[in-house]
Amino acid sequence: MKVGIVGAGITGLTAAYELAKKGHFVEVFEASEKVGGLASGFKDEAWEWPLERFYHHWFASDHAVLALLKELGLKDKAFFPRPITSIWYKGEAYPFDSPPAVLKFPHLSLQGKIRFGLVGLYLRLTTKWEPLEKHTAHDWLSRRMGYEAYSVLWKPLLEGKFGPIYQEVNMAWFWARLHKRSPRLGYFEGGFQAFADALASKVEEMGGIIHLKSPVKQIKQEEDGRLELVSTAGVKKFDAVLATCSPKMLAAIVRGLPEDYVEYLAKLRFLGAVVLILALKHPLTSGHYWINLPKGEFPFLALVEHTNYISPEHYGGDHIVYLGDYVPTTHEYFRLGKEKLEELFIPHLSRFNPAFKPEWIRKTWLFREPYAQPVPVVNQSKLVPTIETPLPGLYWASMHHVYPWDRGTNYSVELGKRAAEKISNL
Ligand SMILES: Cc1cc2nc3c(=O)[nH]c(=O)nc-3n(C[C@H](O)[C@H](O)[C@H](O)COP(=O)(O)OP(=O)(O)OC[C@H]3O[C@@H](n4cnc5c(N)ncnc54)[C@H](O)[C@@H]3O)c2cc1C
Repeated sequence: MKVGIVGAGITGLTAAYELAKKGHFVEVFEASEKVGGLASGFKDEAWEWPLERFYHHWFASDHAVLALLKELGLKDKAFFPRPITSIWYKGEAYPFDSPPAVLKFPHLSLQGKIRFGLVGLYLRLTTKWEPLEKHTAHDWLSRRMGYEAYSVLWKPLLEGKFGPIYQEVNMAWFWARLHKRSPRLGYFEGGFQAFADALASKVEEMGGIIHLKSPVKQIKQEEDGRLELVSTAGVKKFDAVLATCSPKMLAAIVRGLPEDYVEYLAKLRFLGAVVLILALKHPLTSGHYWINLPKGEFPFLALVEHTNYISPEHYGGDHIVYLGDYVPTTHEYFRLGKEKLEELFIPHLSRFNPAFKPEWIRKTWLFREPYAQPVPVVNQSKLVPTIETPLPGLYWASMHHVYPWDRGTNYSVELGKRAAEKISNL
């Protein structure tokens, strides 16, 4: 078969690789100038390795991506440091990534810690997420863990990530986050961009074609049942097309989708991501990789000091800090210029290190993505899209498809494989 793929993110590239393995001819169309999608990186001239536009790591439990690396002969390029993940409470960052760290946390009663530990253990062990999706994380956690532990430890995380709609997020999402976490976090030599590039090279080696800077403008069904795909790389015909874009993009580029399906696509909720990256001349925090911040106290939700995880030697000695937030695309963070966001964010850095001075900043970058985080509500499983669409021959695979798991490149690999399987059985 001749298969067209919209998007060279990890889902699209994995599907292309799997289809090529099965002997199909694949052509991938990517709007941006590089492969990798949300996991792609950029490289300053002073750096040896590119850096992800949005902070990325794997968990030791990300079996699908680790199996793919093994198959591609790239397993030795993945490595798993154990960085410090922390929460911010009353003006200080506290490590929060192991039972001893929780026991040492001074702002929670012993009873609160015991309930926190027992609930955490249950969520790590249970595989039954279905009953959990009937509850919101807010209700379930405050009842089971007690309001004290919930409000100090998990509520700020939920509120930070989902803002005013945090009370709508279901408990299965929370379960998935906790169930899969590992203290060691995986990275790829040369960054996630090098991983995406290696996967893309493999697709090309197997005869696939990847068109960069080729946004797809239109997909429609021809009278002979084949699909016509219009992009800046020309007008091409395919036996099947796999779109790996957002629900909104799908509705915009596909002609002839039934009205009720377009209405359904509009109902799938998501948030955008905004990240300001700073290259600093000195370290900012005292060894923390990730600090979860309470919403309201800071204008961003997470501070990620990447070079407390991956050595600054790969970035010309720069100390790299991400200041990130998840917001709807209507939020002012999607309109304000970089200077304005710097004015809002940078004054808060001295709270992490009183010695910090703006002169420490060598360079800054701003990245925004409208489709960054699906919002899973109560009984979300009833809303999960199928890979098949109402248009015969058109398939769709997005971050909304990987529920109950949270989005992640591991699930993109799993999803890309699943999509390739469906298309092969056409
Ligand atoms: C802030 C943030 C942090 C994250 N952290 C992690 C992490 O730590 N670990 C992890 O594993 N995952 C993480 N993720 C999630 C991970 O990046 C995604 O789950 C994964 O990359 C999604 O891959 P995808 O191929 O499905 O989609 P995408 O990466 O979005 O790829 C879709 C591609 O389609 C292209 N496209 C869209 N429309 C068109 C069109 N009309 N024509 C042509 N091309 C088009 C886009 O340019 C894009 O390249 C994070 C994501 C964000 C936003």
